[in-house]
Amino acid sequence: MNLLSFTLEELTRILETGYGKGRFHARALYREIFEKGSLDFGSAPEFAVSRALAQSLEKEISVEPGQVADTFEEADLTKFITRLSDGQKIESVIVPMNRYNTLCVSTQVGCRMGCMFCETGRMGLTRHLDVHEITGQLFNARHTLKKPVKNVVFMGMGEPFDNFESVLAAVRVMNVQQGFDIALRHMTISTAGLVPGIQKLAAQNLPGIRLAVSINAPDNETRSRLMPVTRAWPLDTLKTSLSRFPLPYKGTFLFEYILIKGVNDALMHADRLAQFIHPLPVRLNLIPCNPVPGMGFESPSDEAMNRFSQQLVAKGVFVIRRWSKGRSVSAGCGQLGRS
Ligand code: SF4
Repeated sequence: MNLLSFTLEELTRILETGYGKGRFHARALYREIFEKGSLDFGSAPEFAVSRALAQSLEKEISVEPGQVADTFEEADLTKFITRLSDGQKIESVIVPMNRYNTLCVSTQVGCRMGCMFCETGRMGLTRHLDVHEITGQLFNARHTLKKPVKNVVFMGMGEPFDNFESVLAAVRVMNVQQGFDIALRHMTISTAGLVPGIQKLAAQNLPGIRLAVSINAPDNETRSRLMPVTRAWPLDTLKTSLSRFPLPYKGTFLFEYILIKGVNDALMHADRLAQFIHPLPVRLNLIPCNPVPGMGFESPSDEAMNRFSQQLVAKGVFVIRRWSKGRSVSAGCGQLGRS
């Protein structure tokens, strides 16, 4: 029984049905393991008079976040590799923000979406991650690497909506106040545009959770070439699902647009993108393509980025220009899976 898979409510029920105990001990376990990162929960005061319970729990529960096998640093950004219990490896990135860090977590070993600009997509899908393997990345970032993390983005290896149930369960575990305490408004799920996943997320009671969509082209033809998922869920279907998504008051979607020289960086693309976005409330991240060996894609020049960005701004789009962080350690967009 891997403790990193359970919310406090679920753990309370397990202790009630299996051990005749309840919330008091569940909270102690949660505090020691999730909040403090201590695996020695048996020495917590709550277990001082419940030695038999502590001993059986020590035998029956495990905390397996995976082993941090390697770390790479660029400036204050950290990428770490986790070796899972079956030997598979996943990558996570800790990106410094103002006072706290944002952790980018993986949801699958590989990915089957096949986006042409993405190293993970080239790997194909090996398997989905279990809940504890997703929450384990947060455990390791905070407690093994000692990085204060306040935001979590599901933007690492894998398409989160292709592993919907585990991602949803991980969101609920990360959100528990007595544990990891990541607010829903500090979590962002990023999708390549899997419409059924957007619809299922919309039906959950997760007020404030943020949705990011990797757009990368404003027309189905260009987008299908870059992102085969477009053939199943074309842009108009995607837009309809977004227009029905329950955003909080003043909430926005985050769109990511990777600019690739000569592919999707013409002013005509900017015009069509602005048309596609209207009237959705969107903040658009404009990111220069990270060249991936063997793909033949190139970054646009700064000048081309500027022109594209200005054209969008002139059409009323809220644009954030991002200089791709982490390129030298292969931690930028589309580069995970190369280490
Ligand atoms: Fe998968 Fe995301 Fe890469 Fe597309 S960009 S192949 S969805 S990991």
